[in-house]
Amino acid sequence: MGNNSYYREPVETMDRDMLNELIDERVRYTIRYANDHSPFYQQWFKEHRIDPAVIKTHEDLLELPIISGADIRAHQPPVSSEFMFRSAAMEDIFTIHETSGTSGTPKSFFLTWQDWERYAEKYARTFTSQGFSRGDRLVICASYGMNVGANTMTLAARDLGITIIPTGRCNFPIRIIRNYRPTGIVGSVFKLIRLARQLKAEGIRPEESGMKKLVIGGEAFAEESRAYLAELWGCDVYNTYGSTEGTMCGECTAHQGLHVPEDLVHMDIYDSRLKKFVKDGTCGRIVLTTLLPVGAACGMLLINYDTEDTTLVLSRDRCTCGRTHMRIYTPQREAETVWIRGASMNRVDIERGVFVRENMEYITGEYEAFLYAGDDREKTVMRVSMECKDPSGPGRELVAENFRKTFFAVKPLLRHQYEEGLFTLDFNFTAPDGLELASISGRPKRLVDRR
Ligand SMILES: [Zn+2]
Repeated sequence: MGNNSYYREPVETMDRDMLNELIDERVRYTIRYANDHSPFYQQWFKEHRIDPAVIKTHEDLLELPIISGADIRAHQPPVSSEFMFRSAAMEDIFTIHETSGTSGTPKSFFLTWQDWERYAEKYARTFTSQGFSRGDRLVICASYGMNVGANTMTLAARDLGITIIPTGRCNFPIRIIRNYRPTGIVGSVFKLIRLARQLKAEGIRPEESGMKKLVIGGEAFAEESRAYLAELWGCDVYNTYGSTEGTMCGECTAHQGLHVPEDLVHMDIYDSRLKKFVKDGTCGRIVLTTLLPVGAACGMLLINYDTEDTTLVLSRDRCTCGRTHMRIYTPQREAETVWIRGASMNRVDIERGVFVRENMEYITGEYEAFLYAGDDREKTVMRVSMECKDPSGPGRELVAENFRKTFFAVKPLLRHQYEEGLFTLDFNFTAPDGLELASISGRPKRLVDRR
């Protein structure tokens, strides 16, 4: 692709007016494709008395209803006999996927080979924007399962000349680092913190391991934990946001938010009740629409789909990296948000209080928090457990004080409740592997509401 700093320069650096024209052309084609190829959308347009031909621009999408994960589940077996969302003939489907949904029944996804190429391109653009190029060696710790992330990242490497080491998990032998000298790892914050500890235990300083970049795949984190991870490894840490639904956004070297590949996926931000579109800079739910290049085929597409994740648009102006595609704040999961007497709190707010730099001299970063109803039901008690390097050692009061200071600084409504005695904070310090989540397999749940 010639220029080292972009994967597809003309599209990635396109002026806003031209980009909008391209987006609108793809909106028209995608809507027509949905109506022509997907039984679900045919019925959906009819039911809502929408003439697909009147949807001409991305603004017109705001007039359409929102589709949820529940709609997908309600239009696939066992509820219906067919996969109603599928939008290509079965013999044209290259792979079938399932999302590991937290709510029971997985959602099925169908991808044609063209979908694979588009998904891979989104990752190829992100990796390029993070400075990966020919000669880099990248360990993929994300799982090669029924989701698409690890597989499409691997395909992305093909065009970039990156060597992939597909471990599929983070607890790989240290030999992998010693023998192959990877220059990057795609993993999760906590697994990369653990890996650094494991390296140290084997006499290797992580900052001398040859690592140049860490890429976080698919999780929200606090800036504090990113900073700690960057310090541990002595290298840059980049965030990505990807899903089987086809988001795949990523931070560039400017670290000014995650670029959304706007020519391939359209993102609108709605208020929490999904009633209206919110302005740039306001936090809300990510609602996405697949965008197909004119003439393209697609195995399954989404129109106005509620991702159940929240973010805000940081900017639609040209980034210092030269890209014009809009940038969003690190998305958070709505499922990790709780409400306490009208005050909202996300798991990431707790993480911010844990990862205060001074705290890291005493704790490992592993944490979990539980909410309980107080004695008179009016009160809420939050108990934060943190894993300590030495639970009998000093530092507890300091860690607790740092937590309170940092947490309440971003949660003024909860500070007020705390001062009124309606919200209590308890701290618990455990030995290594002493957290409840250490004994539970699967994705750890770090914020548990037991009210
Ligand atoms: Zn940028």
